[in-house]
Amino acid sequence: MKAISVLGSTGSIGTQTLEIAEEFPSQFRVVALSAGRNLSLLVKQIQKHSPEAVALADESLLPELKERLENLSIQEKPKNMPRLLGGQDGLNVIASWEHADLVVTGIVGCAGLLPTLSAIRAGKDLALANKETLIAAGPVVLPELKRSGSRLLPADSEHSAIFQCLQGTPWADNARLSTGEPTPGLRGIHLTASGGAFRDWSIDELKKATVDDATSHPNWSMGRKITVDSATLMNKGLEVIEAHYLFGLDYKHIEILIHPQSIIHSMVELTDSSVLAQLGWPDMKLPILYCMSWPSRLETPWRRLKLTEVGQLNFLEPNTKKYPCMELAYAAGKAGGTMPAALNAANEEAVAQFLDEKIHFLDIPKLIEKACEKHKQDYQEIPSLEDILSVDNWAREIVRESTKEL
Ligand code: NDP
Repeated sequence: MKAISVLGSTGSIGTQTLEIAEEFPSQFRVVALSAGRNLSLLVKQIQKHSPEAVALADESLLPELKERLENLSIQEKPKNMPRLLGGQDGLNVIASWEHADLVVTGIVGCAGLLPTLSAIRAGKDLALANKETLIAAGPVVLPELKRSGSRLLPADSEHSAIFQCLQGTPWADNARLSTGEPTPGLRGIHLTASGGAFRDWSIDELKKATVDDATSHPNWSMGRKITVDSATLMNKGLEVIEAHYLFGLDYKHIEILIHPQSIIHSMVELTDSSVLAQLGWPDMKLPILYCMSWPSRLETPWRRLKLTEVGQLNFLEPNTKKYPCMELAYAAGKAGGTMPAALNAANEEAVAQFLDEKIHFLDIPKLIEKACEKHKQDYQEIPSLEDILSVDNWAREIVRESTKEL
């Protein structure tokens, strides 16, 4: 039985991870949980999974969590009272919990960076959903992985598809899962994208896009930030950088392809020109389960893919004029060093401002571009963790200032 620690248990990735653990009780045991602020859901998760330890990012809510757990009736109480922790230190303890075999990283944004590093330093295997961590801090995360021997299993559906297609190659067999070195035999990656909420909108129509419009994804059900990232296609740009760090491929060999049905989750092209794809319904449970069960596969009763039900699989070139975020991400990825950290933080802040209705949808790429332009003066090629954290803060501040000027 695998013991799982779930970071961001109250989010979209976190709740789906816990559903899988419930569905396969003889395979998985939940030993540690972390959440941000959602106490009601966290208490229910503690009752159901009885973890050994729980952390809240917002430390000020710890007394209330304690009180809520103490006030449960005897029948409602979890089997064991968990150890309760708070703040950054608490998250780091959950990430490195000694009884956990695998850490699922479902925290949103660069807030996941320090817990992810704690998990790696403790030698834990990771199911990586929190892509922002690798994007912002690839140059710091990869050497740490090499040192610790932790394995980075991709939970993002596209990278899981690539990972699944590479099973059986020396890369996957030897668990060279994260060394950042080129994957033997891999010539190229085709990352598929649904096209997001505005796939069928014209550039003119985008001027009227609201928060409700941007947070309604046609195919996938996800957290709010990543749904907006899908609408700007920044999510795909971030995934290009993620693929570069995970599979060691040069950017010129990582292509984006619009595939409106979201059935092919990505493809690899091998050196002999064979192209392999992984297919499935758009449902994050499968890539999460694969991280949890890898290298085995579990039998599920889940809805089976019927291609006759899908009918057609279509592919289109992405429109870079309509989606400038993709090009910004390629440029930041190619620059490397601290530039992806600036891009990622500027995007997180711009999306937060958009969700707060302080800026317009079309302002998001403008603010990111401005921050990346400014960062060229202080760019560092081989950054330390402190450099990355400082660039992250700086880029958020630049976006906040630029928002006032808009
Ligand atoms: P959600 O917004 O649904 O959930 C985020 C989780 O992180 C919640 O548990 C939240 O706690 C917690 N959290 C928020 N802020 C902090 C913080 N500062 N410190 C610690 N914990 C915090 O996000 P998703 O599940 O959609 O996404 C999580 C990650 O997975 C992202 O990096 C995303 O890009 C990636 N991903 C998500 C996919 C999806 O289908 N959702 C698909 C592929 C990748 P609380 O709610 O209690 O405040």
